[in-house]
Amino acid sequence: MQYQPVQNFINGAFVPSSTSRTLNVISPVDGKLLSTVPISSLIELNNAVAAAKKAFPSWSKTPIKERVQVFFKYKTLLEKHLQELGELVHQENGKTIGEAIAEVEKCIELTEFACSLPQLITGEILEVSKGVECRTEHVALGVVASIVPFNFPSMVPNWTIPNAIALGNCMILKPSEKVPLSSGRIAELLKEAGLPDGVFNIVHGDVEMVEAICDHPDIQAVSFVGSTKVAKIVYQRATSNYKRCLALGGAKNHLMVMPDAIPGMTAQNVAASMSGCAGQRCMAASAMIAVGDTDNIIKKIVEEARKMIPGENLGPVINKESKERIEKYITEAEEQGATILLDGRGFNVVGKEAGTYVGPTVIDHVKPGMSIANEEVFGPVISIIRTKTVDEALAIENANPYGNAASVFTQNGGVARYIIDHASAGMIGVNVGVPVPREPFSFGGWNESKFGVGDITGKSSIEFWTKLKKSTIKWNPEAGVNWMS
Ligand code: NAD
Repeated sequence: MQYQPVQNFINGAFVPSSTSRTLNVISPVDGKLLSTVPISSLIELNNAVAAAKKAFPSWSKTPIKERVQVFFKYKTLLEKHLQELGELVHQENGKTIGEAIAEVEKCIELTEFACSLPQLITGEILEVSKGVECRTEHVALGVVASIVPFNFPSMVPNWTIPNAIALGNCMILKPSEKVPLSSGRIAELLKEAGLPDGVFNIVHGDVEMVEAICDHPDIQAVSFVGSTKVAKIVYQRATSNYKRCLALGGAKNHLMVMPDAIPGMTAQNVAASMSGCAGQRCMAASAMIAVGDTDNIIKKIVEEARKMIPGENLGPVINKESKERIEKYITEAEEQGATILLDGRGFNVVGKEAGTYVGPTVIDHVKPGMSIANEEVFGPVISIIRTKTVDEALAIENANPYGNAASVFTQNGGVARYIIDHASAGMIGVNVGVPVPREPFSFGGWNESKFGVGDITGKSSIEFWTKLKKSTIKWNPEAGVNWMS
């Protein structure tokens, strides 16, 4: 299927880019050309920011109970178009239809949370001395930007859009140039839901656009989700321009499996965590630390992983470069002495030869220090590192520079508590392979998986998308008479 060339969305309308530079949008499913995306210039960004700035006074003064009505409607539109939106995510990102629909369902949950914001952002008031009261209220920031990655074309934009906009901000979204299609449908549905023109805008582009967003004097805050390398660049550049910034980076998540873990359930969870969305999740299991004798569990993990069939229940990785990079990690691990229990290299799906598939891969006897043990692989690959003790396992987990997620599989509550206390990650799972907190709990890692204060979703996002106004108020209690009477 081919789509119309992608355009920017500015002031409630799709507009062509002023530059002729475009990139092809290729489906990883079969290598076919889906569309083209403009690499826009500063002209488009200035237009989008001007539209957002113009919309801001009226939108931010609209009472929040009215603002969220747009998101009640948006939620019903997401539900109505669930299949179609899922198909779009599948086409541009490659994840299976089931995974793509689950992604859009998560957008519905994120939007439901935004609809509850009026209940959550009430301020505080107290009489602090006789006749004097202090009060606080949350105030929108102004024009804000959201820069997003390729791996969740619909969900990650919806981490920021409903909350930031319901809280009164006007937004510029910069989608990933690899998956620019879903954001266009998001814009159409927001408009259909009644969002005023200019409140939500999209500018497509690459590095230069991201830099221009970080530098733009009329953008108050920047949220970023992507790799750690770019998160650091964006955080540094945006904050050096005195902007508020929250930049989420990459991950290397460790699952610690104890000998008492329930074999079947553990194996299913480990296999699903490493291979879901072809391993292209910042919450994916990338390393498993097998503590003590877990051979029976490892055997079952291989059996479970083998059930992941590329082109059927396992989607492709995003592009050829990604496939080559992942296969190189596997080859290097093999050369360095690791044992490949299940090998996903060299996969081709019949009839989809130009698709970029990597089969499920399980590698045993990986040693800390190997590149596959230290770096984010972002493919359906799990590296098994063996240790004798829980403390050894924790030392390996703690030493990795990231800190998005960590999980433990055990039946022992004491061990689980010990891991919760000592793992160096923002999101911990106990017998859960992908410990994504659900609303109203917030999403966000630690260490090199996140730069900035607070989290990107849930209640924590309120602090990021608003500033606090503090008023101290004294009326003359002697004024007395009502001079209207
Ligand atoms: P990426 O960092 O390459 O790109 C993210 C965004 O930054 C894109 O919009 C891209 O156009 C832009 N960009 C790319 N290079 C840039 C540069 N040099 N300067 C300025 N902007 C640049 O990430 P990706 O490959 O699209 O996404 C995968 C990464 O995102 C993985 O590392 C994954 O772990 C991470 N991720 C993290 C989370 C999280 O919550 N921590 C969630 C999803 C994805």
